[in-house]
Order: sequence, then C-alpha cells, then structure tokens
Amino acid sequence: MKSYDVLIIGSGPAGLFAAMELEKMGIGNIAIIDRHAYTAGGLLNDGKLNFDHRIGLDLNELKIDVDTACHYINEVKAIFTRFPRCRQVTYVNKNEKIDVLMNIAYEHGVEFIAPEQWHWGTDNGKAIVDHLRSYLGKTVFLLDSEVISIEKRTGHLYRVAARKKGKIFLSDAPVILAAPGRSGAYWFRDTAKTLGVDHNFGPIDVGIRIELNRKFYEEITNIVYDPKFIFRTNRHKDRVRTFCTNPGGRVRLENYGQFKLVNGDALSGRKTSNTNFALINTVALTTPFSDTTEFGHMIARQFHLLGGGQPIVQRVGDFREGRRSAKSTFDSRIRHFEMCKATCLVTPGDITLGLPARIVDNLWESLKRLDKIIPGILHPSTLLYAPEIKFFDTHFPTDQNLETNVSGIFVAGDGTGKSRGIVGAAISGMIAAKGIAGKIRCKQRLPFSHQIIPAKDGK
Ligand SMILES: Cc1cc2nc3c(=O)[nH]c(=O)nc-3n(C[C@H](O)[C@H](O)[C@H](O)COP(=O)(O)OP(=O)(O)OC[C@H]3O[C@@H](n4cnc5c(N)ncnc54)[C@H](O)[C@@H]3O)c2cc1C
Repeated sequence: MKSYDVLIIGSGPAGLFAAMELEKMGIGNIAIIDRHAYTAGGLLNDGKLNFDHRIGLDLNELKIDVDTACHYINEVKAIFTRFPRCRQVTYVNKNEKIDVLMNIAYEHGVEFIAPEQWHWGTDNGKAIVDHLRSYLGKTVFLLDSEVISIEKRTGHLYRVAARKKGKIFLSDAPVILAAPGRSGAYWFRDTAKTLGVDHNFGPIDVGIRIELNRKFYEEITNIVYDPKFIFRTNRHKDRVRTFCTNPGGRVRLENYGQFKLVNGDALSGRKTSNTNFALINTVALTTPFSDTTEFGHMIARQFHLLGGGQPIVQRVGDFREGRRSAKSTFDSRIRHFEMCKATCLVTPGDITLGLPARIVDNLWESLKRLDKIIPGILHPSTLLYAPEIKFFDTHFPTDQNLETNVSGIFVAGDGTGKSRGIVGAAISGMIAAKGIAGKIRCKQRLPFSHQIIPAKDGK
C-alpha cells in the first residue's frame, strides 16, 4: 500500500490543474488516479475554450470576485495557449460586428455574449494532454484504476480502494480531491454519502442539438465561433441558452449505458459542411420532487425507448407540420432536406414525444427568436436531435477552498457542480489546490514556496 499527501480522483482539467498548482506550491507527494488508461477526462473532446468569467464558472459557487476569476482565467489561458495548435477563434476587442449583433439580439429580447475563444479540435486532444502533463514533475499517475471506495481511517487518513485489471489496490492520503467529472458524478455522490459529505440537487439542462447547413450560421460563427444567446421565454419565463457551437463539426453520441445522449465536436484538420450547437433549457425542481437526476434520466430513457435504443432526430420541416421524420423521406429533395446531410445517424422520429411540453414550448420559442437574429436557421432541412442533457446536478456545499463539510475531502470540476466546461474545471481545481496546500502547510509547518515550472518544450 502507498501513502500520498494528496490523492486526486480524476485526470480531467480539474485534476490536472490541481496537481500543477500543488506542485507549484511545493507539495510533492501527489497521485492522480483515473479509471481510463490515458490521462485526459474531457480534454479529448473538441477543446473550445471560453476565456470569460461569465461562461462556465459560477463566481458565487466558487466564492470569488470578478478580479480573482480574471486572474485565474489568465493563468489557465497562459498554459493552454502555449500549445501551438490551440488557436484563437473569436476576437472580442474593438470588434464592431459583435456590437451590431448584440444590438440585433437586444431588439429581439435576447442576451448575447461573445467571449474570447480558442480551439484545438478533437484530433489534437492527445497532444494537448501531453502538453499539460509536461507541466507536471513528480505527480504519480495511477491509470486504468477505478476507485471503488473511500473509507475514513483513524489518524485523519482516507483509504482509497481501486480496481486495476481485476485486482484491488489500496492507497492512503489525508486529503482527497474528488474531480470525477460528469461520468463519475453519481459514483462519487454515493461514495460521499458513506463519508457523511453533504450534497443536494442542482438544476439540469435539457434540450436538443441543432445541426444545420453551415452557410446558414456562418454569418455569426465567422465573427464568434461559439456564440452564446440567452433567452427568457415569454410563455413560461424560463431560461434557455445556446451552448457548444461547432462550426464545420459533427454531432456525437455520449453512451451512458442505459441510454445515449447527443453532443457535438469539431476536428481541427477536417471540417464538415454543417454546424451544430445545443439549445438547452435550465430545469430546477422543488417540492414534492427535487431529484433532477431522476427527471433527466426519465427523459433520456423515454428517448431510448422511442428511438429503439438511439436518440431521435427530426427535420424542422417535419416538426413544423407536426409529423415525425421517417427514413424514407429523411433526405427528400422535394422537401429541400438534402441541404443538410446528418453527420450522426440516429432514429428519425418525433422529438416532441419525448420532451415535456413546457420544454418544447421554450425551445421552439427560442429557436423562432434566433431565426429572427440569424435568418435561415429554421430552413426545413435543419435537424433537431434529442435528447441533449447536461447533468450538472449534484451540488456539494463547500467553503472558499472547495473543502466539503468533511475535513480533508475537497471537490472540483463538473461532476461536483463547481464548473461547466474545461476552463471552469481547471480554475476550480486550482482553487481547491490552494486550499489543500494551505492545509498541508499548516499541518507540516512547511515554508511557503511558489515555484513556476516551465513547459518541458521550453516555451
Ligand atoms: C462531446 C463533448 C464535447 C465537449 N466539448 C467541450 C468544449 O469544447 N469546451 C469545454 O469547455 N468543454 C467541453 N466539454 C465538456 C468538458 O469535457 C468538461 O467540462 C470537462 O472535461 C470537465 O472537467 P472535469 O475535470 O471536471 O472532468 P472530466 O474531464 O470528465 O474528468 C473526470 C475524470 O475522472 C475519471 N473518473 C470518474 N470516476 C472515476 C472513478 N471512480 N475512479 C477513477 N477515475 C474516475 C474519469 O475517467 C475522467 O477521466 C465537452 C464534453 C463532451 C462530452
């Protein structure tokens, strides 16, 4: 059995940036454990970076002000943008075209945010992970190892049991940083319960992914790569937003075992003729049923059933006429459907059968408003894929160091409700690391040390 000062669960951006920060602060005996054989988490996905405090991080949740958030954003940016294949795709300074778009959106009662954005593309995912790992010196990687339990021992120690190739191995540490991402969120929620860690249900985002001929959205994506439109709907007064736009990208599936969800990405080297983006409705539940996880799962299972084990896709032309899409007419020239060739083959059907009426109302109202800002997006060929659900639903109350009510258990990243995206996850990892370093220094009476470790490539 090995002992560490800090054991980080999850090698996504939250875990990696936490380890970098800990090393910078002179904490040496760190291990990152991940169930996958390759370090990465969600870093292998697309890689759009939003460098803006309004996107992907909740300042109240992280208990930081705007200046502190900007400081962290600059630190994260400096590391990512040293990777040569990470390219700036949205320029916001003195961009008059953005002001014009903002005014048009405002006239239609829509908020428009244009953040500074960079992108590396899914095909550069492994290279960016190597780049990030080059910032790490002594951190030990325990890969291909799935954590199955965390147990409190005497003497302020936690014992972590992990399974590697069918065998269980144990590690001890006084501090655990849980950064399990969305894929490990429910496992950690169950484990946290056994440790007495408080949690509650946060909102989820439920909606669709829209795929359309690239030319209809180019008017905007040529200016802002991933435009953020935020709608407050008239009928239900709900919040809907666009999210994760991929110009020249493809629609992708996320497999959750009992159902599949839609998502999207883009490659850097090879573009399609389409653009896709998510349109999602934030859903929070109160009494008598507050379990947003179960609500989201119920919707996803319904689609699984209706789509024969696959998500559903419907043409706007069919949606408008209130009929399902069908295989036989899916690419009909007569109906102008050939204008957009689907990049993801799922079941043609009717998305309104699987989504609650309130969500359909909200999404359609928002799409109609978006079509006024960027005319053409509601061409009959445009595809509506469902379900797209963002399960950022488990929320852990923490202090300003992201330490939970149980001493020594820290949390970071998307799976614990601290971020929504790569930059936010990285920042939450850094905040937790600062708290952890303070705690360890206090216990070990270590002197303050803050050492900048340059990338190995010398950049
Ligand atoms: C298709 C797709 C496209 C995306 N595109 C973008 C984008 O362009 N820009 C953006 O900002 N975000 C994007 N995201 C979201 C982004 O991937 C996440 O926001 C980000 O990765 C969250 O980081 P994290 O460190 O919290 O978790 P993750 O990156 O998910 O890392 C968590 C890690 O924990 C490990 N883990 C979980 N449970 C256990 C366990 N029990 N034992 C051991 N290891 C465990 C997992 O294997 C995983 O490696 C995309 C996501 C998807 C699915």
